[in-house]
Parts: sequence; structure tokens; C-alpha cells
Amino acid sequence: MNFKEQKNLVQLYKKFDIVLSRGEGVYLYDDKGKKYLDFASGIGVCALGYAHKAYTKALKEQIDKILHCSNLFHNEQIALATSNLSKASKLDRVFFTNSGTEAIEGLFKVAKKYAFKKGIKNPQFIAFKNSFHGRTLGALSLTTNEKYQKPFKPLIPGVKVAKFNDMASVKKLVNDKTVAIFIETVQGEGGINAVNKEFYKDLRKLCDEKEILLIADEIQCGMARTGKFFAYEHFDVLPDALASAKALGCGVSVGAFVLSEKLAASSLEHSEHGTTYGGNPLVLAAVNAVFSIFKEDKILQNVQKLSPYLEQKLENLVSNFKFVKKRQGLGFMQSLCLSADVKVADVIKEAQKNALIVVSCAKNDLRFLPPLIMQKEHIDEMANKLHKTFSAF
Ligand SMILES: *Cc1c(COP(=O)(O)O)cnc(C)c1O
Repeated sequence: MNFKEQKNLVQLYKKFDIVLSRGEGVYLYDDKGKKYLDFASGIGVCALGYAHKAYTKALKEQIDKILHCSNLFHNEQIALATSNLSKASKLDRVFFTNSGTEAIEGLFKVAKKYAFKKGIKNPQFIAFKNSFHGRTLGALSLTTNEKYQKPFKPLIPGVKVAKFNDMASVKKLVNDKTVAIFIETVQGEGGINAVNKEFYKDLRKLCDEKEILLIADEIQCGMARTGKFFAYEHFDVLPDALASAKALGCGVSVGAFVLSEKLAASSLEHSEHGTTYGGNPLVLAAVNAVFSIFKEDKILQNVQKLSPYLEQKLENLVSNFKFVKKRQGLGFMQSLCLSADVKVADVIKEAQKNALIVVSCAKNDLRFLPPLIMQKEHIDEMANKLHKTFSAF
């Protein structure tokens, strides 16, 4: 069988010319045994790298107990995972989903119900330019990329688009129908772009004054990726709700939204939302393993310790190559912006020849989302491989 043949697949992804077979630590292996250094983590998912012993052990043990029981029953994994996530987020009420997009969908309903209870008809929402919140119809309404939205209009009405890190542009859109602001604390797909502290604090203040919900999409930037458990901790801001996914399960399909107690009390009630699979014992065994391994392996400390080194290595590449314009990012979520004459897709292919996996974002940026277990020598290896890659252009 030709594993690269795709004639029965809906053609939505242009796949790379690689068949991945397995992974170990921060390395991936293709079907011919070629070993790649991974700086993508399956798009920010595999924070513990591949085949992490304690992680796979926890999954195997759970498989022998129970995979699924529906949300009609209690289970030890959901009790533990709920406690883990609410403690880490400093928020209170957790709902588990199967993906990041579904967490956003759920929060959209939370915001609509909040508006309903307040008697606001035709509620309005604010999202940001270059945002990414997912591709289902609700989430897509908040993903303000015209290319993604255009064929699917009309979407959910009432979403206004503000400029990221621009308080004046937010204030211009706020009125008595505004119920929620959806924001990625660090934008991912649209270009790695972190909120600035003053802006985030002002946003929190505005939301407090006007009783608007501040909803943080921490799907990509959360779970220790930026050196804090959730990225909003960098900015001394607590949102009213957050969405998590990607590294939450480190490879199993799981997402979550978490609400403050106050918001939980003034939004969704019994049977107004649900899921069959969401938060099943298998995925939550993974989530609980992730929480305990993060602690055991000192993942946060590793990201904090090595982030300046990673940034320095990327800055060196900016200095050495004219077409590499700048570095952007926070912690282990970084990008290099390339000038238009060098195509990021070509750079990614050349990097693969040099056994390095990276991905892109925005229009022409290289994106770095390494596994959070990355060590100093791996960062050196990445920098050498990237230097060799860039030298071909
Ligand atoms: C990946 C991502 C999503 C969508 O999550 P899925 O698990 O792909 O549904 C939403 N928001 C952000 C910020 C993301 O990075």
C-alpha cells in the first residue's frame, strides 16, 4: 500500500512528503527510519514529546479499566481532572470537550446564555484581527480571517473585530449589547503575537466596568507553553473563562472550558449543553498524567529556564540572515518572520531535508512549538539545522 496516496481522503490538507511512524522524546521517525528533531509538537499538542513512559503507562492502565462511561456517571478521572484544571487556572467550573473548537463553541453558548439572562437581545461579541478560534460555524464566526469565513457566510451575527493590543479600537466597538470579548492571550495561527500587559489590564478593567465577559483562548498558549501554566498569568489578569485543549491531553482528543463561579452561576444550566464522549475516563487519565508529569518533570521550570536561550538562538538567525526579519513570541511559542521573497513553505521543506520539523503561521512566518521537554542541546541542534537550512536560500 502506498501510504502517501490520498485518493479517498477529502482534500483539505496539503500533506508533507513524509510518512511518520513513531516518536521518542523530542524526535520523530519516518517509515524509512529517518530521525527528525521535532519543533512543532503536532501543532502544540505533544508537550511531553513522544512515548513518554509515565504518560503511556497511565493510558495503558486506564485502557484496562474503563474507556468510556458517559457523563451520566461519576468517575475518579473526571473528579481528579476537574480539580487539577480548576486549581491550575484559578477558575472554578470545568466542562470537558473533545477539541479546542468545541471548547470555544461551548463558551459561545455560555456568552449567549449570559446575554439571555441579562435580557440583552441581539448580543454583540468582540474578537480580534488575526485571531484563530476554530473552524466550526460558531468558532469560525470568531476566527476573523476573511479567507476562512467567506464561503460560509452568514455566520453568527454580532461579532465585531477589534485590533489586537489597541484599546481605542476595542472601546469604539463596545456598547450596551456587548457581552463578551474573545481573545488569545498569545495569538497562534494568525502570527505569534502576545498581548501587552497594559492592554490586557485595560481590557480587564473595561470588562469589569461594563459587565462584559473576558474569555481567554488558551488552547495553544496555555498548559505551560509560555512559561506560565496559563499565559494570562504573565499579565496579572484573570479572565472570566478560558478555553484549553492541545497540550491539555498531550496527544489524546480533549479540550475544556473553565468558568469563574460567578459566570457559571449566570449562564448554562442543567441540560443546556452536553457531549457524549467529552471528558471520558481515557482522555482524562491522560490529562491527569499530564498534570502530574508536568510537576514531576518540572516542565514549567524547564520552559522558564530555556526560553531566553531559545530566543537568543533565534535572534542570532535574525542577525545572520537578511530575509529573516524578526523574532516574535513568548516562552516556547516563537516565530521568525520571513521577507516575502523567501517562501516559508520552501523553508519548511528544506528544513525537513535537514531532519528538522517546523510549521508556519500567518502569511510567511516560521512557527516554533517545541515539546516542552526540550533540552539545551536540542535547541543547539535546531539552531544548527536551521542555519544550514537558511543558507540554502
Ligand atoms: C488549535 C486552536 C483552536 C482549535 O482547536 P482544535 O483542537 O483544532 O479544535 C482554537 N484556538 C486556538 C488558539 C488554537 O490554537
